[in-house]
Amino acid sequence: MAKRKFKTESQKLLDMMINSIYTNREIFLRELISNASDAIDKLYYRSLNDGISNLSREDFRIDITLHPEQRCIVIRDNGCGMTAEELDSNLGVIAASGTQKFQQEDPEAECAGLIGQFGIGFYSSFMVSQKVEVVSKAYGSEQANRWKCSGLDGYSIEPCEKDTHGTEITLYLKEDSEEVRYSDFLEPFRITTLIKKYSDYISYPIYLNYESDVYDEKGQKTGEKEQVCKVQNSMIPIWRKNPSELDTEAYNSFYQDKFHDYQPPLHMIRASAEGRVSYDALMFIPKEAPLNYYGRGYEKGLQLYTNGVLIMDKCADLLPDYFNFVQGVVDSADLSLNVSRELLQQDSRLQLISRNIEKKIRSELEKMLKNEREKYEEFYNAFGLQLKFGICQDFGQHKEVLQDLLLFYSSYEKKLVTLKEYFERMKEGQDTIYYACGETLDKCTLLPQTEQVLDKGYEILYLTNYADEFVFQMMGLYEQKSFTNVCADDLDLATEEEKAALAQANEQAADLFKAMQEIIGEEVEGVRFTNKLKKFPVCLTSEGEISAGIAKVMTTLGKENQLKAHMLLEINAEHPIADKLRNLYENDRDKLARYTQILYAQARLIGGMEVNNPAELTEMICDLMV
Ligand code: ADP
Repeated sequence: MAKRKFKTESQKLLDMMINSIYTNREIFLRELISNASDAIDKLYYRSLNDGISNLSREDFRIDITLHPEQRCIVIRDNGCGMTAEELDSNLGVIAASGTQKFQQEDPEAECAGLIGQFGIGFYSSFMVSQKVEVVSKAYGSEQANRWKCSGLDGYSIEPCEKDTHGTEITLYLKEDSEEVRYSDFLEPFRITTLIKKYSDYISYPIYLNYESDVYDEKGQKTGEKEQVCKVQNSMIPIWRKNPSELDTEAYNSFYQDKFHDYQPPLHMIRASAEGRVSYDALMFIPKEAPLNYYGRGYEKGLQLYTNGVLIMDKCADLLPDYFNFVQGVVDSADLSLNVSRELLQQDSRLQLISRNIEKKIRSELEKMLKNEREKYEEFYNAFGLQLKFGICQDFGQHKEVLQDLLLFYSSYEKKLVTLKEYFERMKEGQDTIYYACGETLDKCTLLPQTEQVLDKGYEILYLTNYADEFVFQMMGLYEQKSFTNVCADDLDLATEEEKAALAQANEQAADLFKAMQEIIGEEVEGVRFTNKLKKFPVCLTSEGEISAGIAKVMTTLGKENQLKAHMLLEINAEHPIADKLRNLYENDRDKLARYTQILYAQARLIGGMEVNNPAELTEMICDLMV
């Protein structure tokens, strides 16, 4: 029989498949199994609807047989099969979606991506084979046909014998090279692993057939061989099983197996939808962040299946960044198997699924926060920082989604609280949410500036994470209430009389303060009295948007980000030190210099900052003591 030629695009693709240096060759098996499963589906539905046969679901199977001596793998199904015309048209050209793709774009550049994400169906068999033979008999037809191809020059089709309907594909593996051991695919263990990895949830049984050594009771080979034939796939995806049939144990072991976690998940989320787009999703929130979670190596995404066939291992588009900790699978019959990543991204059905999934995760977290507070705090400890990043991302546009999921330590409750809880307790006339920053809770509580705020009966949120203050700045307002750092210079809790008295005291001491500022130098913008301190003599206060905390974070981020906070040294107007300073200014400028430096150092220490000159400082204090 004369050789037939491949259509041009198919030839290009075939060429690339044959010569591809692509490393993910193993997907050929997934592709062929999924074709087999489709062919069975077709026949099964036809028999259901037309009553053309009395085949039942149990009659269908896929068989993979290994023949190491002949270096070949046979994949057999008892699905609808193909006629000679169908063999020609189906295997002579690549699937329409793939064809379009190749006409649109540079095929060379696209190749790796296309194969990587979706494979290209039947053609992927040429990544591992030097010759492929397809024997097929269409259901209801008398005649079987053999399609044969060993390379670019074309293929042939000829009549042959076959007992039953269905298709049998024989792959003659390429010779092993230094880089690739194709003969690995003749190892039962390797094939079992591939079936479990890619095709576990195919709904028909996949049998693996091979010859195995027989062992005696002592574990010695007897020299005899036996034929092994075992089902390798679990068949029903756990996410399609009736929840009433499943216990926590089943979900947990599925999660641990699939996502390689040594411990069970913190929380499981099941979701499904029907309608404009139908899907089943099974998602998990891990107990702890993976080791590489906050590093570059971490990849977000859910496994994407269509009809039980894995089409993408980490579909990033299904999860927003701020929920990137979620692991899981999504299975939708509405997505097509052979479509590139780019086309899938634009798929409105995928976008719809992803929006629904985001809503579902959020509502699950809200429920947990409401009903299982301790568990939520465990979650928050592991992944709260990611939610905070989410608020700062994209110019704050996710604020509404995330703000009520945040927790901060409260001076009032002495535990983590939500902004809502703070808001609901706010005093009448309180128009701002007070917070204090420090490296630890202790440092926050020791801040002198907290005294007055607490004295007036206001609750303070203690922020101990470097991202916290950014989060508040990004949010701007919560329920129309602003955020105020208790260390900010515009913290205004005094009565009109108190303010007037303070202004007068400051005016009278203007010369003293000028002298003190000169002693300290550029690090402070000014010195002044304050009435916001109770027992502490001094504190440092920041002026404007950039607090000391933010300036510190920026400095650690690198030179180009350096920002200076505008700091004021404030002196407790009621403290005996105030009079002492006035006195020294009149009588002993030398001592004033030393006192000023010591006070400034104290203010830095209380504010959680380092002192610039600890040795010099110690000496000064010692001098005063003796
Ligand atoms: P796709 O599966 O995306 O359509 P393939 O290149 O894998 O692309 O297959 C092309 C066509 O060949 C399929 O659409 C199907 O009609 C036919 N085909 C492939 N494998 C089989 C099979 N095992 N049984 C019946 N038909 C098959």
